[in-house]
Amino acid sequence: MPITYDLHSHSLVSDGALTPTELVHRAGAAGVDVLALTDHDDTDGVGEAWEAAEACGIALVPGVEVSVTWGGATLHIVGLAVDPEAPELAAGLERLRGFRDWRAGEIARRLEKAGVPGALEGAKAFVRGRILSRTHFAQFLVEAGHVDGHKDAFKRYLRHNRPGFVPGQWAALEEAVAWIRAAGGHAVLAHPARYRLTATKLRELLGQFTECGGEGLEVACGSHSRDDTLRMARLAADRGLWGSAGSDYHGPDRPWAQLGRLPAIPGYCRPIWELWEARAEAESRRCS
Ligand code: AMP
Ligand code: MN
Ligand code: MN
Ligand code: MN
Repeated sequence: MPITYDLHSHSLVSDGALTPTELVHRAGAAGVDVLALTDHDDTDGVGEAWEAAEACGIALVPGVEVSVTWGGATLHIVGLAVDPEAPELAAGLERLRGFRDWRAGEIARRLEKAGVPGALEGAKAFVRGRILSRTHFAQFLVEAGHVDGHKDAFKRYLRHNRPGFVPGQWAALEEAVAWIRAAGGHAVLAHPARYRLTATKLRELLGQFTECGGEGLEVACGSHSRDDTLRMARLAADRGLWGSAGSDYHGPDRPWAQLGRLPAIPGYCRPIWELWEARAEAESRRCS
């Protein structure tokens, strides 16, 4: 039986719907063998996920999805196989959470001006961990009847150029990659097709990303079309980057991103798990 990998998922430690334990159980039921928990700017769920995974025979890859500002755009860098205790990573993520808290107040202030009062308290009511995300503002906007649904909340209030949008001051690309590497992990550019960069900009980004130590490109992903996957796999192969596969699961309410349901990485692109499988094999040879 081939091994099923899902190397990008969220729990309610950030903006997912399930506890780390529930997430791991759901992944197991969906046939996932190797799951990475990659909450936004926080590794707080890793310990719980690890225990749940051990109990049900899934391999848990400790991870994180770091928010980055690059050339005015927000990018996401997934860190895989990170040590959550590593001080450089922990301090970096804490700084980003500080920015999130400031930004939340600013979002609420702008929404109030746009005729939506009480957004900060409203969004906070949905927060279960330390991360205050735009997803929580979307949940508030839906519940308070200002919008028809989650997507509508982003379209009308929370997206770039909408009244509740606050430009980011997230980590620099080099910083995010350095924190991940200092924690022993591998940096992967998440959902590359979603940024809608021109081919030239994407090449520029990948040049900088590899130069500072980035290793992977998320080739198969919940929000990629078949065409995106082929295009990104070709790009990864050309650039000597490993291909990664992750659903970006947030919960059952986002049906386009289900756990473990991903297209195969094309054969000409080497999957990132070869990196740690080769290492594990070498270690087991050394021990035997
Ligand atoms: P934040 O990191 O707080 O700015 O929030 C970003 C999160 O909001 C992403 O990780 C998604 O989960 C969600 N999100 C962003 N854009 C959209 C969108 N257009 N529709 C639905 N969810 C979105
Ligand atoms: Mn999210
Ligand atoms: Mn993302
Ligand atoms: Mn994600």
